[in-house]
Amino acid sequence: MPQHFLLTADARSLSPLAIARLSDDKAHAMLCELRWGSMENVVCPKCSKQHKAYYIATRKQWQCKSCRHRFSVTSSTIFAHHKLPIRTILFACAIYVNAVKGISALQLSRDLDVQYKTAFVLAHKIRESIQAQRELFPLNGEIHMDGSYVHSSVREENKKADRVDRRLKVNENPDKRCVIVMRNRYTADEIKANPQLAGAKSTYTFVALSENNKTVSNLAKLYIEPNSVIHTDEHPSYDNLLVEFDLKRVNHSQEYRSDDGITNNLAESYFSRFKRMYHGQVHKIDNIYLGDYANEIAYREDTRRMSNGLIFHDVLGKCLKTPPSNDFKGYWQGNHRNAEWLVA
Ligand SMILES: [Zn+2]
Repeated sequence: MPQHFLLTADARSLSPLAIARLSDDKAHAMLCELRWGSMENVVCPKCSKQHKAYYIATRKQWQCKSCRHRFSVTSSTIFAHHKLPIRTILFACAIYVNAVKGISALQLSRDLDVQYKTAFVLAHKIRESIQAQRELFPLNGEIHMDGSYVHSSVREENKKADRVDRRLKVNENPDKRCVIVMRNRYTADEIKANPQLAGAKSTYTFVALSENNKTVSNLAKLYIEPNSVIHTDEHPSYDNLLVEFDLKRVNHSQEYRSDDGITNNLAESYFSRFKRMYHGQVHKIDNIYLGDYANEIAYREDTRRMSNGLIFHDVLGKCLKTPPSNDFKGYWQGNHRNAEWLVA
């Protein structure tokens, strides 16, 4: 059996220790390099002009020669107005990238030796950047689609006499949500060109109130090309897909793999990682942020065969391309996102 990717030397190209040892100047230069490619030719975030701006070394700021705007390496990015040293931000990204099943804000706060609140906001800003830089083109080829419920049942009462029938709809947990996933498979040609590739290619996630006909059909119409092959389980909400797609089913109450080789394994492996994060790392997810967490695991799945150094650069690149967060700016001063991201 081949060695697991994470055990190979190829998986390791990032040293959090080396990042923790960077001097302030080196950490600053590294972020400039990632944002603009150099510290010399910087891009003014206001007028977008790339040039040799005046550098005010004592403040680590530049002044634009054409519009006189003053900016730093984090201006107009998700890290704008940061109070942490840049080295700590880089180190946090390294820790975040290495946590293949996600990381809780409490653990991050201990690793960075910062307050829980600081770690919570920082991790969410990284999640928001990953989400913001995501483009969802319609999937084609073989697509696996499935839904899984979170917060599905209410906590049982202590006394048996006080307990309710949790199977009844009236006793359902009002926080119950469904994470719906769709993933396409690498084509035979893609695998032939690069034998390293296997399994799922792109993962899209959505949060809905339930797995139902209408939501499933809408999502498939928006994000799957007509006539693609869709694998699902026996759940009746997928029945309508028969009209526009080549629908293949596996009946999970009978088998994991049908006699003609149909599985829903790409979706199952997504939920496997999602549930490891849910039960083993973050423990509790507010529905308001469920979409961010679901997408985080989609990103981790899609980058599972990339080295940690590459993912680190990719994540930081996304953070530097994402404008300051409306949802997490002043979070602990009372500014919160107030609506869930639900698909219908
Ligand atoms: Zn300018």
